[in-house]
Amino acid sequence: METISLKYPEVKNYVAGRFIPNGKKSMDVISPINGKIISTVPLSSHDDLDEAVKAAQKAFPSWSAIPIKERVQVFYRYKTLLEKHMMELAELVREENGKTLDEAKAEVEKSIELTEFACSLPQLISGELLEVSKGVECRVEHKPLGVVASIAPFNFPNMVPHWTIPNAIALGNCMILKPSEQVPVSSNRIAELLKEAGLPDGVFNIVNGDREIVEAICDHPGIEAVSFVGSTKVAKIVYKRATSNLKRCVALGGAKNHLIVMPDAHPDMTASNVTASMSGCAGQRCMAASAMVAVGNIDSIIQKICDEAKKIVPGKNLGSVISKEAKERIERYITEAEKAGAKILVDGRNRKVEGNENGFYVGPTVIDFVTPDMAIAKEEVFGPVLAIIRAKDLDEAIAIENSSDYGNAASVFTQSGGIARQVMERASAGMIGVNVGVPVPREPFSFGGWNESKFGVCDITGKSSIEFWTKLKKTTVKWNPEGKTNWMS
Ligand code: NAD
Repeated sequence: METISLKYPEVKNYVAGRFIPNGKKSMDVISPINGKIISTVPLSSHDDLDEAVKAAQKAFPSWSAIPIKERVQVFYRYKTLLEKHMMELAELVREENGKTLDEAKAEVEKSIELTEFACSLPQLISGELLEVSKGVECRVEHKPLGVVASIAPFNFPNMVPHWTIPNAIALGNCMILKPSEQVPVSSNRIAELLKEAGLPDGVFNIVNGDREIVEAICDHPGIEAVSFVGSTKVAKIVYKRATSNLKRCVALGGAKNHLIVMPDAHPDMTASNVTASMSGCAGQRCMAASAMVAVGNIDSIIQKICDEAKKIVPGKNLGSVISKEAKERIERYITEAEKAGAKILVDGRNRKVEGNENGFYVGPTVIDFVTPDMAIAKEEVFGPVLAIIRAKDLDEAIAIENSSDYGNAASVFTQSGGIARQVMERASAGMIGVNVGVPVPREPFSFGGWNESKFGVCDITGKSSIEFWTKLKKTTVKWNPEGKTNWMS
């Protein structure tokens, strides 16, 4: 049998501070840049998960007993390690996910910001205390949950794990991370850097695998809470399964984000923002502009969007999509829209990148006269494709936006404060942009959509995540047992 020399060592599970020798089942990790196998990833068993949960349970009493001001010191050190290894981490992301190096670097920069936020947690979680009756005090404290799990998608191999790792761990929990089996290489390096920053063994663990291990996480009695980021189909499965096992769960799903462009929008700024939003990370962002609702006659802006799109070249300033299947799915959506009567203004199908002919590339695509009933208008395409839907006025545009099952992001491009305010009020989405193509809230504001883009109560980052990763302990103390009592004491 031919032996292939892998670019990266095989990915391993990480338990109790050690990389564990792999079992029998594994799958290849393929770089979408050129279709080459760059590593292998273990498909773990229930027993592997059990070992990781035991390690996390063992670490929990001592980690949670450390005051939070001391716990976050690990993350101060970790932040400097992320900065120091920025280019190396970005290169890993580029290689396994296929995005451009600049996009990969931006992803690691966001991980740094998320880590900075975790360092501020001591300032945010100080509890409350009140003398509720003479000599009687009530106080509330945030306490960690125990062992928690974080399940990640393929599109941000570095950043999405950082949505949960720093906050959950700084708040005193011990974690099992289940990276996407399509992009598992980055997580092994994250584990090494956390160890180097001084995180005690067992506080952070990685169990690799696919569907089977996700289901095992949802079922495991030793895991208190599950966070999930991925498609809506799987978010629903995970949310139902984890909560039916009485776990806390927040499950972020897919998206279909609408950008409403008004006739008074600034033409150049709108064109460059819309194009960057639909094509950045090859459209594989849950915050990507996927549908543009063109209000009235904005043909000159659409022309500028097409001009901008033509400047985006696969293999240069546009990365690959994640797999052959993803490329085929995206191109199928384009072809079906064309057959249904939409007009392709810029066509990204059948692109090859010289030197990387086996990579999975789709060029930027702009499609006009899409109608709301077409699949491309309703479903998540997850590629560098902009579907333009025409609307006669703002009311119709908002109605189109609000008819989506999803509700991650919605944006409006206008120079009118009144119009912007209406969209802010009426759009049914968790994250709104005004003249912003990718309205990701920066820390300390939290990230999370509405409708079928998120299941569960809290957001996954920012202040909102404190409620997710902790439970409240309420204590009532009488300091003057001899004193006069009243009804509250
Ligand atoms: P996915 O749902 O296929 O996979 C996500 C995770 O679930 C992976 O770790 C995978 O191993 C696991 N999984 C896959 N199928 C499963 C099944 N049947 N049962 C149990 N587990 C299963 O998602 P993906 O393709 O990796 O990522 C892309 C999706 O993630 C897009 O829909 C995108 O919008 C979404 N996403 C959403 C957000 C958000 O904030 N809402 C952020 C990033 C990505």
